[in-house]
Amino acid sequence: MTSYPQRVAENVLPLSVSGELSEALKEWYFTERTEDHEVATESCELCDQEQLRYHFEIENKNTRKRLWVGSSCILRFNVAVYENGLVLDKKSAERKLNKHIAKMRLDACINSLNALAKKEQNPILDSALSYYQKNKCLTPKFAFVVFWRLDSQKFDYHPSFFKISLKRDSHKRDLANMPTDRVHLIWKALSPNQRKMAIKLGHTEPST
Ligand SMILES: [Zn+2]
Repeated sequence: MTSYPQRVAENVLPLSVSGELSEALKEWYFTERTEDHEVATESCELCDQEQLRYHFEIENKNTRKRLWVGSSCILRFNVAVYENGLVLDKKSAERKLNKHIAKMRLDACINSLNALAKKEQNPILDSALSYYQKNKCLTPKFAFVVFWRLDSQKFDYHPSFFKISLKRDSHKRDLANMPTDRVHLIWKALSPNQRKMAIKLGHTEPST
């Protein structure tokens, strides 16, 4: 078995000008291209780590060779991440990569919601879809209908990718008045603070 740095070196050196790993890695930058494979079956072409769902493309500025890698490798090896022509520091680079992941998750949610609305021809789902596209979040009531229908249709989706808004008093009221089994259905989409709020409003945590 080859060691981790050795694997990285074997993958990156043949595609770089420098023959020394840390110098060679300086030739690479994130191209802003990403891909959501929908299931975690891909591997990182830099470190060979498996079970990646999201791929980030990096390119060598000298050789123009490209690799699909995991976001953690971009950060670990300080692969340049640009914004407005400037290289970002590590914190900002991480924030930027996380934004890309959030965007891919939002798109995945919109795709499942879109497919569901097409399949069911239900006006509530059409409204939920336009609400989600406009606000990038669902109301608690919309979330319940969406998750219930996605489950019934056996759609493969991640409830935690959906965001729920509780900013308006009417949304808080809706959550308070919702039967607890419905709140449990949308639980995974609630943030830690929203879960605390749900408990304060009289609901319990799901048992599993
Ligand atoms: Zn990697």
